[in-house]
Amino acid sequence: MTNTNNTGSKSSKTQCEWCGEKVNCDMWHPVASGTAKDGTFQLFRFCSEECRENWVTEQDTAPS
Ligand SMILES: [Zn+2]
Repeated sequence: MTNTNNTGSKSSKTQCEWCGEKVNCDMWHPVASGTAKDGTFQLFRFCSEECRENWVTEQDTAPS
C-alpha cells in the first residue's frame, strides 16, 4: 500500500509508536490508523502486535 498523502517531512526510519523500537518498514508490521491532534489522518506503526494492543487500549481509555 502506498501513502499518496505523504507530507515528505519524515525520514525512512520509523519507530514503534508505543515503545520506540525501530520498525523495519520492509517487513510486515502491525499498524493502526487514527486522527492526529491537528485533525489529519495518520497511520501509526508498531514493532509487534503487543505494542499495537497497548497503544489501542490507551487510545480507548484516554479522554478525547
Ligand atoms: Zn513496540
